Amino acid sequence: MPESPRKAGGQDDHPPIARAVFFDRDGTLMHEEDYCSEPARVRAIPGAGEALASLRHHGWLNIIITNQSGIGRGYFTGSDYEAVNAELSRQLGGGIDAAYHCADHPDIPTPRRKPGTGMIEEAIRDHQIDPKRSWFIGDKDIDIASGRAAGCRTILVLTGYGEKHRNCGADFVVPDVTAAISTILADDS
Ligand SMILES: [Mg+2]
Repeated sequence: MPESPRKAGGQDDHPPIARAVFFDRDGTLMHEEDYCSEPARVRAIPGAGEALASLRHHGWLNIIITNQSGIGRGYFTGSDYEAVNAELSRQLGGGIDAAYHCADHPDIPTPRRKPGTGMIEEAIRDHQIDPKRSWFIGDKDIDIASGRAAGCRTILVLTGYGEKHRNCGADFVVPDVTAAISTILADDS
């Protein structure tokens, strides 16, 4: 049997531009818990794990972009944050490809903290993502502003603080993250 053909011309040196769905964490992938510092308080949105698996199946990267000022405020530590993420990832069936967080106190000006785009730009560099083919899903105006400024399409979910931010100018407003993912997959088909 011949070996599998490989593309000529060094194409393998340039991985295809990826596409991603960026997710806010608190109030979007999991129920809102003020400054969630313990795995025992983590409750994933029902159906989110299956929906994330479906996105992956269709070639999307699933990436968390989250402000965690509770670290900067001294309410909990970076390892508490990691423990919460690990529990969420377990409840979601491991469907998260990467997570970026900003620990800074809101009084510290930083382009990483949403509505800044710093974390999204890091993810774009790390994973060769095309923002124009990507989406941001979140429950606050800062999520929508950050995603839009990075060049992504945006979806506001009405879980978490979503009801308060209905008029933030998102491309779509839907009940929860499973509906948001259905919107993306329908747009893609
Ligand atoms: Mg949120």
